[in-house]
Amino acid sequence: MTMEIAGAGALLTILRDGRARTRAELMELTGLARSTVSQRLDALLDQQWIIPADDAISSGGRPAAAFTFNAGARVVLAADLGATHARLAVTDLTTQVLAEHSEDVAIADGPERVLDWLVTAFHRLLAESGHTLDQVCGTGIGLPGPVEHETGRPVNPPIMPGWDGFDVPARLGPRLGVPILVDNDVNIMALGEHWAASPEVEHLIFVKVGTGIGSGIITEHRLHRGAQGAAGDIGHICVPSAAHVVCRCGNTGCLEAIAGGGALAAQLDVANGREVVRLVRAGDARAIQLIRQAGRDLGDVLASLVNFFNPGVIIIGGDMADAGEHLLAGVREVVYRRSLPLATQHLNIRSRQLGDRAGVIGASVLMIEHILSPGTVDLSVASG
Ligand SMILES: [Zn+2]
Repeated sequence: MTMEIAGAGALLTILRDGRARTRAELMELTGLARSTVSQRLDALLDQQWIIPADDAISSGGRPAAAFTFNAGARVVLAADLGATHARLAVTDLTTQVLAEHSEDVAIADGPERVLDWLVTAFHRLLAESGHTLDQVCGTGIGLPGPVEHETGRPVNPPIMPGWDGFDVPARLGPRLGVPILVDNDVNIMALGEHWAASPEVEHLIFVKVGTGIGSGIITEHRLHRGAQGAAGDIGHICVPSAAHVVCRCGNTGCLEAIAGGGALAAQLDVANGREVVRLVRAGDARAIQLIRQAGRDLGDVLASLVNFFNPGVIIIGGDMADAGEHLLAGVREVVYRRSLPLATQHLNIRSRQLGDRAGVIGASVLMIEHILSPGTVDLSVASG
């Protein structure tokens, strides 16, 4: 890495991840001259991205020697919009939740109604958190369907009538006056779980087992979206045991058609996946047997993914994850039996840690990673 050209943004990254905290350490790590380091630190101090570390403040009139990242420099508005339920939060720049709200909102009401509601709800929540709009650096939003991340437009979302191609940032941007980033809900959950639970993990697969099944892929600490943003759609991978089952996508043999919460609910003659979880928790033998088999079917697909992608961690999330060990046991049984020993040697398969909050935390991460990327920080410093 050519540290000689490290700008203010690169210095901020180094201070954030703790590789250096003093002027001297920054000079040594980057190879920059003292005057250049000082100039860039002044710019970061000016924008409040960093503050002098406590021990430096007490050193009298001399310029501070050590610095820390200022997590309270700006706040983020985050939203996880599901099919029938929305969760919103105001967070600081480390995803610490300062205020949050959840409410039943039907995504099928269409983009105008839902996004107008979102603006009003954000304003209320921001006031509740004691902040104002000029302290907001951006808004991260998750939607329950495929999204073209570059433009923030949903693409043929199956459960979102009226949203296809809708320009979400264009609707929200003028009213909030901040950058808007939009992504698929499973992707933001993967970001959230990665950030909160496994920041040291480089390669991770997050699997959402809800009514349907999808996954978010993190590689080298970054979300892998694929060429069209469709990466991770594992619910429609073909599995042998589903050979003659017709899926909602029109194909036969999809994983989701036998192992999704919707498929299990149909077999148990209950309303939805949450009811299936309730039966499992109540000790219903047939429900337990079905969820365990769903775990094995999911394990079949994951075993192939493990050989192909070699993740360090697989996290099972979504409503069905609340069925706990029964689902995980099925997954582990097949993955450890079927995947290559080298790929499973240090593989950790576990349940989600953030619960219902994974999406909203991930929406915050989406914006934080953008706003604190070296290039964006350099721009903010140049224009400030
Ligand atoms: Zn399908």
